[in-house]
Formats: sequence, structure tokens, C-alpha cells
Amino acid sequence: MDYLPLSFDLRRQRVLLAGGGGVALRKARWLVRAGARLRVVAPVVEAELEALLDGVEGAELLRREYREGDLEGVVLAVAATSDDGVNAEVARAARRDRIPVNAVDQPSLCTVIFPAIIDRSPVTVAISSGGSSPLLVRRLKARIDRELPARLGELAALLRRYRDAVGQRLTESSQRLRFWERAVDGDIADHALAGRLARAEALLQQALEQPVAASRGEVALVGAGPGDPELLTLKALRWMQNADVVLYDRLVSPEVLALVRQDAERIYVGKACSQHTVPQGEINALLVDLARRGMRVLRLKGGDPFIFGRGGEELEELAAAGLPFQVVPGITAASGCASYAGIPLTHRDHAHSVRLVSGHLREGSEPLPWAELAVPGQTLVVYMSLRGLPEICRQLIAHGRSPATPAALVERGTTRAQRVLAGSLADLPDRVAATEVKAPTLLIIGEVVALRERLSWFEAAGDEAGDNSF
Ligand code: SAH
Repeated sequence: MDYLPLSFDLRRQRVLLAGGGGVALRKARWLVRAGARLRVVAPVVEAELEALLDGVEGAELLRREYREGDLEGVVLAVAATSDDGVNAEVARAARRDRIPVNAVDQPSLCTVIFPAIIDRSPVTVAISSGGSSPLLVRRLKARIDRELPARLGELAALLRRYRDAVGQRLTESSQRLRFWERAVDGDIADHALAGRLARAEALLQQALEQPVAASRGEVALVGAGPGDPELLTLKALRWMQNADVVLYDRLVSPEVLALVRQDAERIYVGKACSQHTVPQGEINALLVDLARRGMRVLRLKGGDPFIFGRGGEELEELAAAGLPFQVVPGITAASGCASYAGIPLTHRDHAHSVRLVSGHLREGSEPLPWAELAVPGQTLVVYMSLRGLPEICRQLIAHGRSPATPAALVERGTTRAQRVLAGSLADLPDRVAATEVKAPTLLIIGEVVALRERLSWFEAAGDEAGDNSF
């Protein structure tokens, strides 16, 4: 970002404006609107500018050339004369004194620039292209202006008057949030934007006196898909935009997380392979606690929450506590990775069934039913299989699956960093061992894997661009 947009409180602040022509007049209008006490310095001043200053308390008009000392007591300097030399002089002096300065049409002299402004005070929108394209900015401004209700400022001013009262009367943050949501999204806003301010105010007053009973809160267990944010469901996105708090883990990609409402509280509950950052029991308890406090809790999980996501365990706890919950399915890694790798999971000629299994071969746990998994004519998708890969391939071969069976490891599937390492049951483990592979990875085994030579379509950016860490 070349320029950070900030909103400057200029009320009763001294601002130097050098110049008395049309350009200076345009700047003066904005500065006066912002409540600045202008000091205009120019040997010749347009009548309109002079008239404008007449109405401004504390304005000064100095009919002469700019000189040292004019910056005394000034918080902002604007150089808008027709003489580049004078503008440069003002800019130099201001920079020396650390006073923000704008020199019209001379970006190299500026420390601040004027954005295009849409003024629905107290709501303002500032648009800037950093000087790249004034026309683009004009078009954007027209578009946004059209979108914004004409009475937006009146609504905002009404809400501002209630801020303190709401803060004092509604002590629960979730209650306050519900109040403002009704004021901004519901009937109150409708009335205000339609000009029925008295009606809007009556409803605000009523909502303040009889706040909706603190809701019981709710938890949504939402599948975030395998990485590409465009694979989110509409329902997932709606939850992401409405949640009060979000609990997410490692598999949720940064791009997906960026779509969560800015002011929702974010809680990372971790889970790198085998090192559980927050133990499952604590996650369950946290969900119950947050929902009891009346929050809309978004439990965001990579892929689909009901496929190797321990979603069931979290819900059981909520069900036992009598708290409302819902589940939003997501695209599971098998689906996402297969599609983006050009591997149809079933195919009339090659595979009539597909099995999703966990390759997390824990000691002491049930061994996988290798004989069943080795049956030909099916596709096997193995989650959590990176460490167990050599053992998985060995067992399948030992139980009769052909060593030539095509197999692929999809790394960080559906993201811009996706890579596919392909081979056969016999040689894939060695290929993977010779490569530096980053989690998460998904193993797909079966004749269908060979189809990717013809069906692959997704071009990932590769590791170089790989800012796609999990
Ligand atoms: N609920 C998730 C799975 C969680 S188990 C889902 O439905 O997808 C974690 C495993 O999912 C990882 O070990 C990996 O095998 C797989 N996985 C998830 N996202 C992946 C991705 N983008 N690329 C490759 N594998 C992924």
C-alpha cells in the first residue's frame, strides 16, 4: 500500500492553503466542510473563495506571497498555487517541520494526498488510486455513490446518538450486537433510510428498553473445504459473515479465514499432526461455554466436518448440554483434491466404488482391513497418510493389489501451491521420500489415477509463489 487512508479531524484546526485560484477554491471547500480554520495566502484571491472564507469562523486571508512563518500553528498545508516553485517551497518547509503537506498535481512533493470523497456525513468514503488513474477513481466513486442510500448520513447520525445509552444499558456484548444488527440491518434502518426518522427513533428507543432476551447462542459446525476459498458453500460464507466467534484449526486456509467477519473473535485450536494444540476435550468445553454465553459460534473445519473431522464428538457434547447446533457440509479433501488433480474417483471402466480411509496407523489401534482394501476395481483415498505411505503401499501389494496400480499423492490440494506426485504402488513411496513434501497430503490409489494424464486441468502456481501455508 503506498498510502494509508486515515480520517483527519480538522475541526477548529489551522490549515494553510497557499493559492487563491480555482484549484485552491476546490480544496478550500472540502477543508471548510471538515471544519478547518483556513489560512489562505495568495496575492490574488477569487471572489468565490473570499466569500467562502467570510462565513468561516477564525479564517484568515493574507493577500500576499507565501513566506516563511506562514506554517506557524498549522496541522496541514496545502500548496495549490499556479507556481510550481512556490508549491515546492511550501512543501519543503512543511516537510522540514513535519507538517503533512499536499501539493496539487505534484505527488512527489506530497506526504498526503486528497482522496475522492463521498460525503454522507458522518459517513464518508475515501477512494484513491494513489495517483495512478483519476478516471478510474471517478468511475468507482460514481458506482459507490449510486449504491449508497441517500440518507445514510441521517441513519448514522441517529445511531451515534444512541451509542452511549446502548453501552450503558446493554451490558452483554451479544445483546449489544443484536441491538445494532437490528438497527443497521432491520426495520429501524429501513425507516430511517426512507426518511421516517421519528418512527426509526421510536423503535430504537423501544429496542433499548426491551432488549431481546439474550439468545441461547448456537454453534455451527461448518466445512471450510480443502483450501480454495471459492469452494466454500453459500451457507458457510453466511455463517462466516455473521459469527461472533470462530474456532478454527490448521487445515483452514488463510484465504478462507480472511473471509470471516473482521470483528469476530478468532480462536486457533491448532492440531498439527499428532501435536494437538488444544486437546479435543477443551475444544468441546469451549464450544459449550461460548454458546451458553449467547454467542453465535462458528466451528470451522477443513474439508467436511463429518469426514475425519471429529465433528461428531463436538456435537455430542453440545447435544448433551441441550444447546442448538447445525452442520454445514463442506467439500472434503477427497473430492477437492481429486477434481483439482484431474482424477475422477469413480469411472465406469475402472472403479465402481470409492473408499475413504484414515491412514493414521496408530499403535494398538485396529489394523486396516488390508484384504478388503486391496480388492481391484475400487478407488482408495487415504487421509492422514504421509507417514504411513510406505507401509500402506507394502500392505496393499502383500494383500494382492498389483504393484503397478497407479497412485498419487496430492499435496496442499486445491490451493495455488498444489502439487501432485504420481507413480505406482511400487514406486510412489520412493518418489515421495526423495521430495520435500508439505502437509496436508492426500493419497489416491487406483486405476483412475492414470486418467489424470489426460484430464488434469488445474495449474497451480507451484512452490515459488507458495504463500499458501497451512
Ligand atoms: N475433514 C477433512 C479431513 C480432516 S483429516 C476433510 O473432509 O477433508 C486431515 C487430512 O485431510 C490430512 O491429513 C489430509 O490427508 C487431508 N486433507 C485435508 N485438506 C487437504 C488438502 N487441501 N490437500 C491434501 N490433503 C488434504
